[in-house]
Amino acid sequence: MKRHEQLYIDGEWLAPHGREAIDVLDPFSEQPVGSVPAADARDVGLAVEAARRAFEPWSRTPPRERAQHLARLAQALGEQRDELARGITRELGMPYEFSKRVQAGLPAAVMASFAKLASEYAFEQRIENSLVLRAPVGVVGCITPWNYPLHQIVLKVGAALAAGCTVVVKPSEQTPLCAFELARLIEACGLPRGVFNLVSGAGTVAGEALAAHPGLDALSFTGSTRAGRRVGELAARNLARVSLELGGKSASIVLDDADLPRAVKSTVGACLLNSGQTCSALTRLIAPRSQLARAEELAAEAARGYVLGDPFDAATRLGPLVSAAQRERVREFIRAGEAEGARRLCGGAAQPAKLSRGWFVEPTVFSGVERTMRIAREEIFGPVLAILAHDGDEHALELANDSEYGLAGAVWSADAARAERVARRIRAGQVDINGGKFNLLAPFGGFKHSGHGREFGVHGLEEFLTTQSLQR
Ligand code: NAD
Repeated sequence: MKRHEQLYIDGEWLAPHGREAIDVLDPFSEQPVGSVPAADARDVGLAVEAARRAFEPWSRTPPRERAQHLARLAQALGEQRDELARGITRELGMPYEFSKRVQAGLPAAVMASFAKLASEYAFEQRIENSLVLRAPVGVVGCITPWNYPLHQIVLKVGAALAAGCTVVVKPSEQTPLCAFELARLIEACGLPRGVFNLVSGAGTVAGEALAAHPGLDALSFTGSTRAGRRVGELAARNLARVSLELGGKSASIVLDDADLPRAVKSTVGACLLNSGQTCSALTRLIAPRSQLARAEELAAEAARGYVLGDPFDAATRLGPLVSAAQRERVREFIRAGEAEGARRLCGGAAQPAKLSRGWFVEPTVFSGVERTMRIAREEIFGPVLAILAHDGDEHALELANDSEYGLAGAVWSADAARAERVARRIRAGQVDINGGKFNLLAPFGGFKHSGHGREFGVHGLEEFLTTQSLQR
């Protein structure tokens, strides 16, 4: 049990005003693994004030010096990778082998990328008689979700600190423990006081207090579209800059000349990663009608091949969902798919036979899905794939773009030029062609209701910069 009883504010561990604590549960054992303080508006206020005081000196610290701080932190994250991954697997349920690479490995690499950017980025530019400065936007509130808990925080904090901003982080109440590990590393690395502040607590209390705080210059939010709308409204009252990274319902378009087995297997993998709790999960497989039967067979076979079980067992490929509530939500969607007439090829809403505990949902594939069905339109955030049939490239695009979301997508074709033509017309922030690999320097973010912020690389850094022109 890791009981955290203090918040990290102004370089110190402070007792919160209230006495309430939030229990963190292990989704496999269903038992508590730790607790964190439930901060209130007064705690949030102290954290914002500390970040305000720290802003002047930190923003004037030369970028190369800021880069050194971030490089030290990146190294510490790398050294602690396995321990961090263990903790995240306990609070989230993702299989440990994946956690090491994705949940803990990625943040170390992302922090290193921002250290490099801070030292290389052109913060000044001459335009005729003007000197145009890229200045840090100010104090940033960061509100993050539970699905990639450390990564989502580091992605914001790395970029904001590289830009010269100071931050107040409000992690998800479901997986907050890794944020406390990060604060300890930051403390050990000697980052100046007040540059990074951590307040844990409920979204409706600490989250709203942060989003509504007049001391914020910017709010960077990752989470559901519902909460994004709310925090956007609150922050807009103070004219704070708002950056939103929200949900998705991403499509994988398989064209009729594609390598079908590869396309289907890869799409199933991208749908099931982290038990489907990934914002950019490919949850709609749009396959040629002429090859639908084969696509169904391949998808069901791939999904059935996933071993569910103890996240610390090396054979496990799919862990439980984060909470009982999340499992119930996913089960509801499976029942809705059946009620609306989709054909379930595998999986289902029942607890997997061999697992008496843990918030598991079996990988579930539906075919015969119509675009009007809830399972084709709404973000499920569980291991559920919907197969839709298309009658050609134009029809495939029409189906893919018939969504209120626009976060990610994929296109598969033997003809690279044809695939690119289709990819350019998908209204989504990132589209992979024939399984193109993830690039941590490329911008990531949404179109439409998936939000409008951009993270990673230079585009992520620029989210936290504003301009100042000096004329002579
Ligand atoms: P959520 O919206 O419930 O919570 C996200 C964060 O917002 C948490 O810290 C929560 O405490 C806080 N929050 C909730 N209500 C709030 C309110 N009224 N005011 C202030 N803060 C509030 O989302 P979640 O369930 O933690 O995460 C899953 C969602 O996140 C999915 O929709 C997923 O697609 C999305 N997501 C998006 C990206 C992206 O980059 N676009 C990445 C990961 C997750």
